[in-house]
Amino acid sequence: MSSELTRALVSALDKKRVLTKASELLCYAYDATAGDEGRAPDVVVLPASTDEVARVVRIARDAGVPVYPRGAGTSLSGGAVPARGGIVLSTSQMDAVLELDPANQCAVVQPGVVIQRLNDLAAEHGLLYPPDPGSVAVATMGGSIAECAGGLRGLKYGVTKHYVTGLEVVIADGQVVRLGGKSTKNVTGYDLVGLFVGSEGTLGVITEATVRLVPAPEARATMTAAFARSGDASHTVAAIVAGNVVPATLEYIDATTLRLVEEYLHAGLPVDAAALLLIEVDGPPEAVAREAEFVERVCREHGAAVERAADDEARERLWAARRAAYPALARQSRGTIVEDATVPRSRVPEMLSAIEDIARRYDLTIATVGHAGDGNLHPTVLVDPDDAELMERAHSAVAEIFRAALDLGGTLSGEHGIGSAKAPYLVWALGEGGLDLTRRIKAALDPQGILNPGKFTA
Ligand SMILES: Cc1cc2nc3c(=O)[nH]c(=O)nc-3n(C[C@H](O)[C@H](O)[C@H](O)COP(=O)(O)OP(=O)(O)OC[C@H]3O[C@@H](n4cnc5c(N)ncnc54)[C@H](O)[C@@H]3O)c2cc1C
Repeated sequence: MSSELTRALVSALDKKRVLTKASELLCYAYDATAGDEGRAPDVVVLPASTDEVARVVRIARDAGVPVYPRGAGTSLSGGAVPARGGIVLSTSQMDAVLELDPANQCAVVQPGVVIQRLNDLAAEHGLLYPPDPGSVAVATMGGSIAECAGGLRGLKYGVTKHYVTGLEVVIADGQVVRLGGKSTKNVTGYDLVGLFVGSEGTLGVITEATVRLVPAPEARATMTAAFARSGDASHTVAAIVAGNVVPATLEYIDATTLRLVEEYLHAGLPVDAAALLLIEVDGPPEAVAREAEFVERVCREHGAAVERAADDEARERLWAARRAAYPALARQSRGTIVEDATVPRSRVPEMLSAIEDIARRYDLTIATVGHAGDGNLHPTVLVDPDDAELMERAHSAVAEIFRAALDLGGTLSGEHGIGSAKAPYLVWALGEGGLDLTRRIKAALDPQGILNPGKFTA
């Protein structure tokens, strides 16, 4: 990239917020996706306002240079990797909660706000921001909106797109557009807010978001159900969902993950189990008591040993154990390919069997955790990025996992997005017509292709 361009960026921002040293740039070459070779950007900018973001985008537009919006870099699909060099635009300096509005049960945030911080502030008003990815302690609002992140409460509360009511976005020509607002009902024209949620940084840079909050549940009951046979666990998921009880959380943890998490955290998990369900019901106390009893009964009928968390401390321990699944798996091997193929809820048992079969046939360790109540599983392949033969086997197995999910009426991604990692498979899910429409939307909004190139719209 020319020094002239760097000079233009320095004069648009401030010297301190334009990073050019190789050692600094290297930190932005990767995200949390395994096996991605990464690529250092030419420059990193840290704008502090919407106006500065717009200036950066206009400079990039004039020079025809790529811009990669970046939050915390925890994407699991290569979304934040600067695939073709150019400018990484980090939102780390735009981290203000601009407004917490209990009367309208919403918050207005800048993109660099960490999700957990919003939730801590919302809790002071008895409110909750439900989207809850396992990376909640570091992932940003901008990144999670751009990925339409889900998480551990998706079954009852839905995912990020169900909470975003307004956005401010800098589009590819440098214009600032404001879409939606605090109204929870809004059918004025196309759903432009919806277009940007889940657009993975390919259509615009989100510079502000208005999100809905909900009353925090009055009561919760959290329990684990340990199964001697993994098939019983997956059938239990289907039976709970079929019983018209909607737990807030219905997580599946397989035997490999269970053992590794226990080695890592010493949380007192039943390591002899073939599979564990982590279940939480929430709501008014009477409903919680009734639903917890139903869930326990269904689990026991399917042969599980059920244990309820006695207090908040025990509950926190269980949640920490679930959130530690990826770190625990990552300690075990040099790399992990975390997938999130998703199927209709009732097909979870078949999907779990398909994953076990694929692991056997490719002679791979595939540990599966997942938001089983959503049909959103995370088969995680333990790999070594330096072992070319192993990586090839792993990628072939992943392709088969996608095929199996699609054959069961599911899809490629429930929450991690497509990025670069799943781009080759997008046509399987969308068909030629859907892919063409995607590319036409991209071309209309970003004709030069400067926003996050090298990803699924490339
Ligand atoms: C341990 C671990 C657990 C995880 N658990 C979950 C989970 O349970 N559920 C889930 O859904 N995901 C999960 N993820 C994936 C990831 O954390 C989420 O997608 C997260 O929301 C990404 O946020 P981020 O700030 O790290 O974004 P980044 O990784 O920095 O960026 C993600 C994408 O958003 C774009 N982007 C970032 N900021 C903006 C912006 N302001 N405007 C426009 N585009 C932008 C980037 O270009 C990129 O394409 C997990 C990841 C890890 C490492």
